[in-house]
Amino acid sequence: MIRKQTKAIHTQFQSRDAYNSLSMPVYHTAAYEFDNAKEMSDAFCGRTNMPDYSRVTNPTVIFFENKVKSLTGATDVIAVNSGMAAISNTLLSVAAAGKNIVTSKHLFGNTYSLITETLKRFGVEPKLCDLTDTNQVRETIDDNTCCIYLEIITNPQMEVADLQALAQISHEKQIPLIADTTLIPFTEFNSHDLGVDIEIVSSTKYLSGGATSIGGLIIDYGSFTDFSKRIRSEMLLNLGAYMTPHVAYMQTIGLETLDARYRIQAANAATLAQELRSIPAIKRVNYIGLEDNPYYMLSQKQFGPTAGAMITIDLESRKACFNFINRLKLIRRATNLFDNKTLAIHPASTIFGPFTDEERKNMDVLDTTIRLSIGLEDVYDLLDDIKQALK
Ligand SMILES: *Cc1c(COP(=O)(O)O)cnc(C)c1O
Repeated sequence: MIRKQTKAIHTQFQSRDAYNSLSMPVYHTAAYEFDNAKEMSDAFCGRTNMPDYSRVTNPTVIFFENKVKSLTGATDVIAVNSGMAAISNTLLSVAAAGKNIVTSKHLFGNTYSLITETLKRFGVEPKLCDLTDTNQVRETIDDNTCCIYLEIITNPQMEVADLQALAQISHEKQIPLIADTTLIPFTEFNSHDLGVDIEIVSSTKYLSGGATSIGGLIIDYGSFTDFSKRIRSEMLLNLGAYMTPHVAYMQTIGLETLDARYRIQAANAATLAQELRSIPAIKRVNYIGLEDNPYYMLSQKQFGPTAGAMITIDLESRKACFNFINRLKLIRRATNLFDNKTLAIHPASTIFGPFTDEERKNMDVLDTTIRLSIGLEDVYDLLDDIKQALK
């Protein structure tokens, strides 16, 4: 049996490259030529897997998809041009006017507005509930519910729901459990073993390898027949969000080093979370890898021993947060997660800035919270920078 990390490095080409290139070439082409009308028709009608047009298929992207497929054990993987494209294409495939989506108010900002504004305009009803309360979830689902949608660790609240409990409810209703697993890489845990039917990843984050590019993955475990077929034969054609070959090339290389980078970043985050607790100016350290975190046990059970590389800290006030961010010397002031560099952001005034005070309060996005994405630096240099910025 070949282990995960070996699979991440070695993936078979679908067909041999003309020059025996050892890396997957970047096929920068819009179209593909055929020898005769029959072959052309077979490709366009899906009777062969010969590529026809790069809006729907491209050898470099397929190679990347196959790498993810072999690492996750999925039945199909579709690479698209952002995490948001993965989410929107998935929801547009499972929802329809008159249907509703059961989810939480604790969502990535754009996912929240996709569900509560964009899809709502097309007659899809958002049904927000507390996904950590299974009774509430049961009460919220009705005959028109088309899926349960969640993030495995919400950002920035850091809430963790019980995937197996939610899978049980969704499968009783014969609807898919869709999980955005961006915050813990799929090399660490198998979401399908916990009952997830469709996994979504913003490959911009851990996977891209040092924040090289924007990308997203739709990982289908095949529980609902024709889901990925619908994505490929309807969504990619009609919405046009397929990944581009150059991005697939960069993210393939990123995927090869994902596990190595993640181990260091998660270890740095664990050390830092522990150290930050003894600093008086920091009122609270939120990291699900801390033993007294309310989600520690569930997180260990679901995701294994690591707890990701995102930490939030709370300071006294919004002003203290701004001062802290302004004084950082090493840590970069930027959004994004899991770059090689450590990044700091004040979510309430940036990512959640366009929302009203009332909406932010409702989403539990506090004015006192700083989000840190921990990188590959020496952890004690990060600690020194945080300490000097708090002075
Ligand atoms: C970043 C992120 C997204 C969106 O991904 P993009 O690649 O920026 O479109 C979705 N979900 C989560 C949890 C994220 O962190």
